[in-house]
Amino acid sequence: MTTINMATQSALAVARDLRAVMQGKVVLAGENAYHHVQRIWNGAVDHRPAVFALCETVADVQASVRIARAHNLPLSARGGGHDWAGRALRHGGLVIDLTCMRHVEVDAAAKIATVAGGATGTDVSAAVTPHGLAAVTGNVGAVGMAGFLLAGGYGPLTTRFGLAVDNLLGAELVLADGRIVWADASQNRDLFWAILGGGGNFGVVTSMRIRLHPVSEILAGIILFPWSEARSVLRGYGEMMASAPDELSMLAGALPGPDGSPVIFLGPIWSGRPEERERVIARLQSLGAPILTQIAPMTYSNLLAIYDAQVINGRHYTLQTRWLADLTPEIISAIAEAGAARTSNLSFIALHHFHGAGTRVAPDATAFGMRRKHFMIEIVAAWEPSSKDEAAVHRQWVSDLSSVLAPLALPGGYANFLTRDDHEQIGSAYGNNARRLSALKRQFDPDNIFSSTTPLPV
Ligand SMILES: Cc1cc2nc3c(=O)[nH]c(=O)nc-3n(C[C@H](O)[C@H](O)[C@H](O)COP(=O)(O)OP(=O)(O)OC[C@H]3O[C@@H](n4cnc5c(N)ncnc54)[C@H](O)[C@@H]3O)c2cc1C
Repeated sequence: MTTINMATQSALAVARDLRAVMQGKVVLAGENAYHHVQRIWNGAVDHRPAVFALCETVADVQASVRIARAHNLPLSARGGGHDWAGRALRHGGLVIDLTCMRHVEVDAAAKIATVAGGATGTDVSAAVTPHGLAAVTGNVGAVGMAGFLLAGGYGPLTTRFGLAVDNLLGAELVLADGRIVWADASQNRDLFWAILGGGGNFGVVTSMRIRLHPVSEILAGIILFPWSEARSVLRGYGEMMASAPDELSMLAGALPGPDGSPVIFLGPIWSGRPEERERVIARLQSLGAPILTQIAPMTYSNLLAIYDAQVINGRHYTLQTRWLADLTPEIISAIAEAGAARTSNLSFIALHHFHGAGTRVAPDATAFGMRRKHFMIEIVAAWEPSSKDEAAVHRQWVSDLSSVLAPLALPGGYANFLTRDDHEQIGSAYGNNARRLSALKRQFDPDNIFSSTTPLPV
């Protein structure tokens, strides 16, 4: 039998066995629903899984892991489908799809939410906002909470309350051997440490308990400056972030303006005292001559909706990331030059600043070890589906800026944006935690069943 035939046989056997036990549906390549379930955020991903298990219960997830293993079919876990590199879609394998498991239960008095493994930031925010509470989610609500959190999780409230991992109280996982376990600070402590930054490498998370915070209203929005002020605004942003209080977090970078040419943006979030709002806005506006200021008090859910509207599903994307200690003049020049030289009007550059609560966690307290102040830069090429040749040009633009930044950057990078080809960055992404993390991977997943992830250093 050829290898292709064997893979098809395995996929058919997996689908048959899953259909016999699962509460949720099973979709095979070629069936009507396949085209719909295979869609993810990045339209450039061309992975074609053989089978989707649309799980509805923890038992469905457990059966998926066990049956895929029994038939030697490679697998992946899928949450919000927002990984740009398409890790959720195992080419030729089984996708353990959690998009039907999105329930969020709120204990408002205890300020804790229990979040199912496929819930998105929007699901969480919609459940907790009516209680005057907020969770550390990513900036874009459509991103899956588990996929986002397991590799660290930078969000608008990170400066106030730490990374998403710093707010995880415990999680239920299906491990590589099919066992269902709970991990927290007192049970399965090593496993708990490992999932606080180790990504999806240790199992499929079916449920998480996360800490909530009293945040009923924030000041947020966007300020745009003309591209001619790129250097001075970025310099001012860097200076402002160097001494920013925990209550002020801010994205910045290059966005397409209304006519497609680049503009500089600041995306502030002030979660401090309302009396100080005017002062914060005035300070931001003084960084240049704004062409647009749209900042207003809003709920956290409103904020996520603003960012959701900026990132369109189904476009083609490619992305690289670096960690930067400071915005030095060389780095600012590199960003300004790259912004002006974009090969697509849709491409953008975003800087997240990490300061405040997350920096006060010890580097070895969680697998996520980057605890010094830094900027995390996303260099994102975006374009409408087109010929492969054109895609190569956009990818080159991303790669060029990343290469210029490499010698100016800190070692490593945010694992959620790295791919298995980023060997050098992966080698340093976990700092001194790499050895313990890799040993735990060998303990909990010795056969590397969960390999459709950003790999850990070997
Ligand atoms: C538009 C956009 C905005 C983003 N904004 C931010 C941001 O503000 N801050 C930030 O930190 N990151 C951000 N990211 C990155 C994002 O956190 C990662 O891409 C994350 O992996 C997406 O999770 P997902 O569940 O949506 O992805 P999916 O594509 O569904 O899954 C990606 C991988 O995550 C793992 N995974 C997902 N769910 C589970 C689970 N239940 N159990 C085990 N493993 C699981 C698996 O390895 C899976 O293959 C953004 C990405 C995009 C595309």
